[in-house]
Amino acid sequence: MNSLTLKPKAIPSHPQLLVPEIRTCKTIRELKQVHAFLIKTARTRDITVATELLKLCATSDFRDPGYALSVFDQMPEPNCFAWNTVIRALAEESNADGSLNAMLLFSRMLYDGMAEPNRFTFPSVLKACSVAARLEEGKQVHGLVVKFGLDDDEFVVSNLLRMYVLCGSVEDAHVLFSRNVGGVDDMSRVVTDKRRQEANVVLCNVMVDGYVRVGNLKAARELFHRMQQRSVVSWNVMISGYAQNGFFMEAIEMFHKMQMGHLSPNRVTLVSVLPAISRLGALELGKWVHLYAEKNKIRIDDVLGSALVDMYAKCGSIKKAIQVFEKLPRNNVITWNAIIGGLAMHGKANDVFDYFLRMERSGVSPSDVTYIAILSACSHAGLVDKGRSFFSEMIIVAGLEPRIEHYGCMVDLLGRAGYLKEAEDLILNMPIRSDDVIWKALLGACKMHKNIEIGRRAAEVLMKLAPHDSGAYVALSNMYASSGDWDAVAEVRLMMRGLDIRKDPGCSWIEIDGVIHEFLVEDDSHPRAKEILSMLKEISHKLSLEGHMPDTTQVFLKIDEKNKESVLHYHSEKIAVAFGLISTSPKTPIQIVKNLRICEDCHSSMKLISKVYERQITIRDRKRFHHFEHGSCSCMDYW
Ligand code: ZN
Ligand code: ZN
Repeated sequence: MNSLTLKPKAIPSHPQLLVPEIRTCKTIRELKQVHAFLIKTARTRDITVATELLKLCATSDFRDPGYALSVFDQMPEPNCFAWNTVIRALAEESNADGSLNAMLLFSRMLYDGMAEPNRFTFPSVLKACSVAARLEEGKQVHGLVVKFGLDDDEFVVSNLLRMYVLCGSVEDAHVLFSRNVGGVDDMSRVVTDKRRQEANVVLCNVMVDGYVRVGNLKAARELFHRMQQRSVVSWNVMISGYAQNGFFMEAIEMFHKMQMGHLSPNRVTLVSVLPAISRLGALELGKWVHLYAEKNKIRIDDVLGSALVDMYAKCGSIKKAIQVFEKLPRNNVITWNAIIGGLAMHGKANDVFDYFLRMERSGVSPSDVTYIAILSACSHAGLVDKGRSFFSEMIIVAGLEPRIEHYGCMVDLLGRAGYLKEAEDLILNMPIRSDDVIWKALLGACKMHKNIEIGRRAAEVLMKLAPHDSGAYVALSNMYASSGDWDAVAEVRLMMRGLDIRKDPGCSWIEIDGVIHEFLVEDDSHPRAKEILSMLKEISHKLSLEGHMPDTTQVFLKIDEKNKESVLHYHSEKIAVAFGLISTSPKTPIQIVKNLRICEDCHSSMKLISKVYERQITIRDRKRFHHFEHGSCSCMDYW
């Protein structure tokens, strides 16, 4: 648009008639031209005209909060609406600068004293406090809310509550919440006023969200159950709260319960429950969610789409993940990360590199998450040189600062390939602080290559970094055990007993006919425990006929050989596979998800089970997928 299209004579002379003219502006440029004309003809002093201008540059699609502020500054006597409009525009920027400017403008409003803040002023100011994480200022605003008599206003109170939650002060939130909704006893009181009911639901949702954010799921659940009425948001908060805090079964249970009521899941529900489904590898449920979205015309945008791609990849169906990915808009790095991360988990290193190239060609810059996927793909495939070059590309070309996860991938890559000294040097020389995870990776590699010297150094650091974590002790004692040094094993055991350290419980999940079954190590709580046990015995008998010798070095305790064997049979993934065998018809593929890394003994057993029972078995462990078929694994025993 050039300046000639706006003919001055086309502008009406009466201020009221100017308003529709202003509204026709489609770009900030057009708006500025009109504004310039209005200044020249001295019409900005008219409050109707000025307000219309302000509204457009503060709230339209082409809004420009900075420009809105300059228009505002020229208004002779801005009313409350004008103040609110600009404060909101600044707060809606949702960044630190905008928030601070919003707070400054609010204090100017108070100082100026010509217009009094109302119920629409405070929510924006409180949002600004939250985004800028200014709890102290937020408390002052709370004082003003009381001063201006708005502490009974549900809308303002819910925003106050949200401010406390987002600023991390659940205590303050709790006090405010109790005062407005009441304590345990008051909540059972029947509220008949419909508006009040709705307001209470909103307050409860914000409070539940607050508990979830600080990881207090007990309080969140209690409040959720006490609520007399719940909205879709209430369920969504609980589902994502469970999923984000590692309670995957509970998240899925909530999802089922929600549908038993009269509420239908929306897009946010699906995005919240999908990570839990992914973690448990519940493919059937995941497919159902996908179908539900399609049937109910829930738009599969980049967020929901990425969650679906991630779900299919983590539930073992990389083909479906690719299909979903190919239909998504591909301008978002999160979508690319979902597919590249999925391919990396499946050990498809070449596809990872192909998709990475496609991503760069389509003009999307890789993020540090992308590089974690690429480096772990290199690590799983044992591509040391490629890994080294991607690592330096990340720093030099992409200009990204490696995080501990990237160093972790490199240590994993170098360590597995046997470059133990280089891996140790990398940890010692990196510019950031090392953590237990990275030393564990090195320790694991030392165990794999039976390097007791570096292994002991790594274990010693680990015991200092995470004294109550069993990992270092278990690995160290396994290393001693495999070299037959039982005295050293006993010493480590004594240390563990002194510190009251226990092994991380292994846990496996298997989905049969849409129901997820959970098995812990040495688990006999399942209703079909007896049948499972006899199947486990049958498996071990058949495997021994195949010449399988249980790898007893995997057992931590020094116990007699016979007992060791029986403990081994009860690793959770073995219980799950036995259950899978008795619960499905012949030839049905079996799919299991495990929370820890699969041990060598289970790995070699699974290979044989796939052969003896003629089943495809897929196990996703903490790191990657293993596809067992005809007696071998897709990882080629390198994991
Ligand atoms: Zn095992
Ligand atoms: Zn494998």
